[in-house]
Amino acid sequence: MQTTRSSFAALSDHDLLAAVKQLAARERHATAHLIASLVELDARRLYLGEGCSSLFTYCTQILHLSEHAAYGRIEAARAARRFPVILELLAEGTITLTTVGVLAPHLTGENHQRLLAAAQHRSKREVEHQIAHLCPRPDVPASVRKLPAPTNRTRTSPPPTSETGSVLTNPAVLLPTQPLSSAASAQSPEDTESTAPSPAPVLVPRPQPRPAVIAPLAPERYRVQVTLGAETVEKLRRAQDLLRHTIPTGDPAAIFDRALTLLLDSLERTKLAATDSPRPGRPPAARSRHIPAAVRRGVWARDGGQCAFIGTEGRCAERGFLEFHHVVPYAVGGTATIETISLRCKRHNGYEAEQEFGLTWEGTRSGPSQERRHTRERGGDLRAASRLTTPDAATV
Ligand SMILES: [Zn+2]
Repeated sequence: MQTTRSSFAALSDHDLLAAVKQLAARERHATAHLIASLVELDARRLYLGEGCSSLFTYCTQILHLSEHAAYGRIEAARAARRFPVILELLAEGTITLTTVGVLAPHLTGENHQRLLAAAQHRSKREVEHQIAHLCPRPDVPASVRKLPAPTNRTRTSPPPTSETGSVLTNPAVLLPTQPLSSAASAQSPEDTESTAPSPAPVLVPRPQPRPAVIAPLAPERYRVQVTLGAETVEKLRRAQDLLRHTIPTGDPAAIFDRALTLLLDSLERTKLAATDSPRPGRPPAARSRHIPAAVRRGVWARDGGQCAFIGTEGRCAERGFLEFHHVVPYAVGGTATIETISLRCKRHNGYEAEQEFGLTWEGTRSGPSQERRHTRERGGDLRAASRLTTPDAATV
C-alpha cells in the first residue's frame, strides 16, 4: 500500500480525524499481535536458529526494530506471558507499552488485576506515582559532585553512572545518582547479558546535558536531579552558610523549598497581581488593552491556572505559556472583565485568533478573502486583526 500525504489531503477535517483514530486503533492491535507472537517465539527460542543470540538481537537485526521499540515489546511480551490480559489492554489502548514497562517489575499474581486496572488511561508519571505508593523507596542522600568536563573522547558505551558521591564536599554539580526509571533506562536481566554493547572503545559525540529528573520515591517524596552551573552551586553554598542557624545541616532540599517559596511569591505578585490585601480595582479605561490586577487574580483563580480552551475531546491541560485571552477580541470591542477574560495557552490563543480572523497564529494569512469578510462583518480591520494574533492577550 502506498503511503503518501496525498492519501489524506482530500479528506474533510471530520473524516481525517476519524481516519487517524482508526489507524491508531489498528496500530495498537498490530502491536499487540506482534507482542503475542513474540511471546511464542521467545518461548520456543526460535531466534537461536535464526542466528541471533537473544530475542533483542532478533528484534533489532532481523525485524529492524529500534532498540527502544524492541526493548518495550520484549518487556511487554515477557509480562504478557505471565499475565495475558496485558495483550487485551494494549490492543484496546487502555494501557501503553510505556506503562507496562513501569508496572512489569511490580506485577504479581495477587496484585496484577488491581494495578493494571489502576493504570488504565494513566500517564507514565501517574503510574510511577502508583508504584511509589506500592513500593516506597527511601530518600536518597543529598549530594553535590563535580561532573567531568564534557569532551570528545574515547570511552566505552554506555556512559557510566555512579552513585558513590561525597555529600556536599565537592563544589560544582548536583549529580544524577541513578537512572530515572527502571523501565525507561534499564534492560531486563535476561537481555542485559546477551545484548550489552561491546566493551570495545568507541568514539562518542559530546554528551548532551542530562535532562532534569523528578521521580517519585514514595508517597510525598521525590528524587530530583539536575545539573547546575558553578555560579548556582556557589549561591547554594552561600545560602547554606547564611541559613546555618535554622538549617544546620545545610540540607539542599530545605533550601530549595525556601527559595522556591520566595520565587513563587514573587512571580505571583508580578505576573498574577497576587496580594494579601487586594484593593478594589478601578474600572478599565474604555479602550485599553490593560487587564486590571483584580481581573487577573479572578481569572487565574477561576480557571485554576490552566488553559480553559475546551475542544471536542475535552479541556486543554496545558499549564505553561499561559496568556490572558479576550473572549470577545479586543479588536472588535472586547473589554477586560473577569467574565470576558479567560486563560489560554499560547497555541490555543493563536488558534482562536486564527478561527476568528483567518490568520495563522504566527500572523500569516491563511485565507485573505475569508479574513476580510470576517473582519468586515465584525467591524474590525486587518491591522487590528494582525495585532490580535501576536497575541490577543497579556502573557501570564
Ligand atoms: Zn490550550
